[in-house]
Amino acid sequence: MAYDDNNIFARILRGEIPNKTIFEDEHVLAFHDAFPKAPVHALIIPKGKFTDINDFNANATDAEILALSRAIPKVVTELKLANDGFRTIANTGTHGGQEVPHFHIHIIGGKVVGPMVQE
Ligand code: 5GP
Repeated sequence: MAYDDNNIFARILRGEIPNKTIFEDEHVLAFHDAFPKAPVHALIIPKGKFTDINDFNANATDAEILALSRAIPKVVTELKLANDGFRTIANTGTHGGQEVPHFHIHIIGGKVVGPMVQE
């Protein structure tokens, strides 16, 4: 899938749409989901143009991959989720239910978030 420069997260990265930033560095932006599915719902995205987790892990530089991994504990600590736990989700493609075609990791917590997959 070709990267769509007009997807909502590309527009957030360009500053065209505001976001509630939790963490930012050279390679990564983390912000609160605008339509939270739990008391705490954050999104962690690379600043590079990657459509999904597969594209990211195949094509990002080592520095970009390391930065995204290292951002997770920073966000989790900032949101005070480490003790009680949380769920990470990376929806991918049609079957995965991905709506925004810029790779992102959901961090969801603040309550017991329920079954992993609905039967
Ligand atoms: P996906 O379904 O692609 O895995 O998740 C996309 C997420 O982006 C959804 O949880 C949705 O609520 C969130 N989202 C959609 N538009 C915006 C927006 O403009 N700002 C923020 N912060 N989140 C958004």
